[in-house]
Amino acid sequence: MDSNYKKELEPGFSPLTVCEEASRCLLCLDAPCSKACPAGTSPDKFIRSVRFRNFKGAAETIRENNALGAICARVCPTEKYCQKGCSRSGIDRPIDIGRIQRYVTDYEESLKMEILKAGKANGKKVAIVGSGPSALQAAVSLRSLGYAVEVFEKEKVLGGMLRLIPEYRLPDRVVDKEIERIEKLGVKFHVGECVGKDVKLEELKKAFDAVLLAPGYSYGKMLPAFEGNPNVVLAVDFLREVKAKKGEVKVPANVLVVGGGDVAMDVVTTLKLLGVEHVTDVVYEQFKEFKASKKELEGAQRLGVTIMDGYVPAKVEGKVVSFAHREIKGEVKIEADKIILAVGQYPDVSGLGVELVKGEVNEGKKYFTKDPKVFVCGDIAKSEFDKTVVGGVRTGKEVALYIDAALGGK
Ligand SMILES: Cc1cc2nc3c(=O)[nH]c(=O)nc-3n(C[C@H](O)[C@H](O)[C@H](O)COP(=O)(O)OP(=O)(O)OC[C@H]3O[C@@H](n4cnc5c(N)ncnc54)[C@H](O)[C@@H]3O)c2cc1C
Ligand code: SF4
Repeated sequence: MDSNYKKELEPGFSPLTVCEEASRCLLCLDAPCSKACPAGTSPDKFIRSVRFRNFKGAAETIRENNALGAICARVCPTEKYCQKGCSRSGIDRPIDIGRIQRYVTDYEESLKMEILKAGKANGKKVAIVGSGPSALQAAVSLRSLGYAVEVFEKEKVLGGMLRLIPEYRLPDRVVDKEIERIEKLGVKFHVGECVGKDVKLEELKKAFDAVLLAPGYSYGKMLPAFEGNPNVVLAVDFLREVKAKKGEVKVPANVLVVGGGDVAMDVVTTLKLLGVEHVTDVVYEQFKEFKASKKELEGAQRLGVTIMDGYVPAKVEGKVVSFAHREIKGEVKIEADKIILAVGQYPDVSGLGVELVKGEVNEGKKYFTKDPKVFVCGDIAKSEFDKTVVGGVRTGKEVALYIDAALGGK
C-alpha cells in the first residue's frame, strides 16, 4: 500500500522563513497572544528573541513554561488560543505562532539543549497515575520543586493519547524526545502497570506522600448496535495500532467511519494517507453543527473522503449498516469491509477511589478529591480548561503547586 502517513503534512519553517514570519510580529505591549496561551508559553517573548536571532533564548522561554513545547507546537489548536487574538490579524493574517514554536523547539533538539532542571531534593515522593500530557507536565513541575516522582502507566508505551495522534501531525520521535528529557530529570517510569489492578491505590498511598490521578479519557465508546461485530473496530484502537506499527497495517479498500469529531477526522485522513480508496464518513451532526475543526474537515474532504451529514445508524447486519437521516425520510445502506467507530471516549477510574460526575472528578476544591492524599488533573479533572494537550499542560502545572502547598511547600 502506498503510504504518506509517515510524512509531517505541514511543512516547517527554514531559518530564513522563520525570521521573516517573526518580523511580521508587532511586538505588542499587552501581547494578546501570551494572555491567551493556557500553558503560559509567552509567544510575544519568544518571537521577540527569534527576531533578534536569539533562538537559544527563545527555546528557554518555551521550555521553561511548557515541558511539552515541541508537541504543543504541532497539535495545539492555535486558532482558538494565541493566534485568535493576534493583533496582526487586523492587518492581514495572524502570526503563525505554532510553526515558529516548532522551528525553535526543533533547533533546541538539534543542539541537544538541556533546559529543564530538577530542584533541590526535598525528601518527598509523589506517584502519578497515567502518562498523558497533564501527568508529564506535573512530573516536570514537581521535579523542579524537589519531589521524587514515579509515573505508573497501564500501557506498554508512555504518552497517553499523544500516542494516538497520527504521525502526519505528531511524529512519535517528537513524543519520544520530550519523554527522554523528562526521564533525564530523574522521573521514574513504570509501564504496563495498571493502578487499581496490578498496583493497588492503597499501596501507592502508603509508599508516597501524595498520589496524582491523570487517567484521561482513554477508552473508546461502543454503540450497542455494533457490539460483537467482527468487522467493527474502535477509533482509538485503530489509531493506536497504526501509530505503533508506523503505518505498516493492512486495511481493506472500502472503509466506513461513523462519527464527526476531530478523532473521526484523524481516522479518515489516516485512511486516505494509507492509500485506502473508498472512505465514507457518516456523521450524526449536520455540516452547520459539525464538531471537527474546519481545518481538519476541509483537509479530509480535499483527500477525497465522502462525508454524509445528519445520519443515525438504524440497523447493522454484518458489513452492511443502514442509516436513517435525522430530517429526511428514507434509509441509506452502506456496505464496507471495515467499520470504524469514532463516537467518543470515556474515562475509567475503577480502583482509583474516586467518583465521576458527568465524566469528571469534582469531589473537593479544584484538583482535590475527598482523600487529602489524592489529587486529579488532566481530562478527568473539572477545570475551566479545554480537554486538549495544552489544557492538560496547564492543569499539570497547577496541580503541582496545589500538591506542593498541601505537603508544606511555599
Ligand atoms: C486521536 C486523538 C487526537 C487528538 N488530537 C489532539 C490535538 O490535535 N490537539 C490537542 O490539543 N488535543 C488532542 N487530543 C486530546 C488530547 O490528546 C487529550 O486532551 C490529552 O491527551 C489528555 O491528557 P491527560 O493527561 O488527561 O491523559 P491522556 O492523554 O488521556 O492519558 C491518560 C493515560 O493514563 C493511562 N491510564 C488510565 N488509567 C490508568 C490506570 N488505572 N493505571 C495506569 N495508567 C492508567 C492511560 O493508559 C493513558 O496513557 C486528541 C485526542 C485523541 C484521542
Ligand atoms: S499578538 Fe500577534 S502581533 Fe502581537 S505580540 Fe503576539 S504574535 Fe506578535
